[in-house]
Amino acid sequence: MIKVHHLSKTYGDLTVLKDISLTVTKGEVISIIGPSGTGKSTFLRCLNLLEQPSGGSSTVDGIDLLDKKSDVPKIRQRMNMVFQSFNLFSHLTVLENLTIGPIKLLGMQRGEAEQKSLEILKLVGLAEKADSFPDELSGGQKQRVAIARCLAMNPEIILFDEPTSALDPTMVSEVLAVIRRLAKDGMTMLIVTHEMAFARDVSNRVLYMDEGLIYEEGTPQQIFEQPQKEKTRAFINRIR
Ligand code: ADP
Ligand code: MG
Repeated sequence: MIKVHHLSKTYGDLTVLKDISLTVTKGEVISIIGPSGTGKSTFLRCLNLLEQPSGGSSTVDGIDLLDKKSDVPKIRQRMNMVFQSFNLFSHLTVLENLTIGPIKLLGMQRGEAEQKSLEILKLVGLAEKADSFPDELSGGQKQRVAIARCLAMNPEIILFDEPTSALDPTMVSEVLAVIRRLAKDGMTMLIVTHEMAFARDVSNRVLYMDEGLIYEEGTPQQIFEQPQKEKTRAFINRIR
C-alpha cells in the first residue's frame, strides 16, 4: 500500500530524514519508536504531505506523492492522520466534527454523513456525546472523537502521531482500546508511540528511528527482546 524509497527531508542546513525506505502492506500495523527529535513526526507528515519531502520517492496505492499533479486531498483521505493534540474544530459539535469532511470533501449528503458518523461514534463509545462540543469532553474522549473523525473519511491507512502522549494516564487505555479494535478489524496503521507494551502486542513490525534513519526494524519480539544494535538496546533499556 505504501512504498517509500530513499525519502529525505531537510530544513535549511538541518537534515531530519536522511534516507528512509519502507514498504507497508495492507493490514499491517507498524509501530514507530525512538528518541524525540529523530524525525518520527516529520516522517508521518511527509507521508501525507503536511511537509514536502526533499528527496526520494513515495507512493500510496501507486499514486506518486511527490508528483505536483497528485490530488493531495484524495491522498489525505486515503491516508488520514490522528495528532497528539487532537486538532478538533472547537466551534463544531462532535457530530459536526465528523460530518464536515465527508460533506465538504467527499460530497456526501448530510443525512447519510450523519447516519454514518453516528455509527462510528458508537464504535468509539461516544454516541451520547454527538451534540456536545469538544470543550465539554475529557482528553481521552477528545482523542476518540479525533479517531472517529478520521474514520468518517473512510481511510485505507491511518497515521497516528503519539495519540496518547497528551493524555492523563488514566485516559490512555480507552484510546489504545480503540486502536486495538481497529487493528483487529484489519486497518493498516503506522503508529508513533511511547507505549511500549501496546506497541509490543498490537504491531506486526516495530521500527526504531534514530539519526534520521530507520535504524533497526523487526518483529516486536526482535526489537524488544533481542535488539541487535547498541542504540536500540540503550533506548529499550531506558524506557523499560
Ligand atoms: P520526533 O517526532 O521524532 O520527536 P520531529 O520530526 O518532530 O521529531 O523533529 C525532528 C527534527 O526536525 C527536530 O530537530 C526538529 O526541531 C526539526 N523540525 C521539525 N519541524 C521543523 C520545521 N518546520 N522547521 C525546522 N525544523 C523542524
Ligand atoms: Mg514527534
